[in-house]
Amino acid sequence: MARITAQNLIKRYGAFQAVHGINFDIADGEFVAILGPSGCGKSSTMRMIAGLESISDGAILFDGRPVNDLRARDRNVAMSFENYALYAPITVYENIAFPLRSAGMDAASIDRAVRSVAEKMELGQLLSLKPGALSSGQAQRVGLARALVRKPAVFLLDEPISHLDTRQRYRMRRFIKSIHQEFGHTMIYVTHDQEEALALADRVMVMSDGLIQQLAAPDEVYTRPANAFVAGFVGEPPINFLDFTDADDRGLTIEGNRVALTEKLCGLVRQIGPRGIAAIRPHFLRLGGGSPVQLRGQGFITEELQDHNEIFVDVGRTRIALVTPPGQKVHRGEDVTVSVDPDHLLLFPAGNKVREHSDDI
Ligand code: ADP
Ligand code: MG
Repeated sequence: MARITAQNLIKRYGAFQAVHGINFDIADGEFVAILGPSGCGKSSTMRMIAGLESISDGAILFDGRPVNDLRARDRNVAMSFENYALYAPITVYENIAFPLRSAGMDAASIDRAVRSVAEKMELGQLLSLKPGALSSGQAQRVGLARALVRKPAVFLLDEPISHLDTRQRYRMRRFIKSIHQEFGHTMIYVTHDQEEALALADRVMVMSDGLIQQLAAPDEVYTRPANAFVAGFVGEPPINFLDFTDADDRGLTIEGNRVALTEKLCGLVRQIGPRGIAAIRPHFLRLGGGSPVQLRGQGFITEELQDHNEIFVDVGRTRIALVTPPGQKVHRGEDVTVSVDPDHLLLFPAGNKVREHSDDI
């Protein structure tokens, strides 16, 4: 097991800089998900930890000792990718045993290690099969077992289940969580899927453009995002962004609606200035009045999803989404009032970059 620290970590590919001097500290036995859009530097960061990519500047430390100059195989790190590439001509047993045979372990110890990991990974019945006879989920589990059998100090997973269909992904997600509970490794899990990151990790490291935007517990990332990028990347349906203007010590204006502010938000407004972005999650909005923060709008559409409804309302020029209990509805063009939970109203500076998809709902 190991604690992993990055100090001003930089990755350059020629003249292009992919990771811009990031710092983090991952505790021994912690499960951290690196979350962000394609190209933000997740795999580069992971591969530098694994020793598969050189460190351009800064340092990575395992338990306080720099590993910059340690080769991958001397770092005691296991890595599992989307592409698990099992050896087709040999059995599941031999696939799992392979890293131990390469390391020169004796046959009796190999047998104990393989059977132990196979049992934990629910592969006991499949040991004599060849990879061709496995489902993609089973093959993925064999790949994980092969990585785990060496008892690594750190387990790195780079989008290991993104190629599976939705059901298999759900199953594998629970499996990966149980591996962490069972083995207790320090685990780092790269994904672009925010739901996966939130469901699995002790802490989520949100990256964009080669920088860490926030590193915090899932609940914190969801309810107290560090900036508009994190707010927009995390959560489904995506958070609503509305421009605000004319902010002062008493309140602000959102699409023609003057709303009062709590003490805390007034303090924030003093830092942000008179204009900016107001953000509110669909789950913290409801139809009807009764809140000090209300928005007037016109109904657009209701999606009835049985266990909840998603309702879309046009507030000025902005279409917002609400998640409501089943049964609630709006009709197209109907005048409606939407109440905002003031504790969950977020304000960000106008210049904050937001994710594209949240603009086009
Ligand atoms: P992610 O895993 O978040 O999708 P990567 O770490 O793979 O992102 O890539 C970050 C950036 O670095 C991207 O712009 C990518 O094109 C670039 N990049 C990654 N690997 C290389 C490489 N071997 N040579 C040049 N550029 C690379
Ligand atoms: Mg990647």
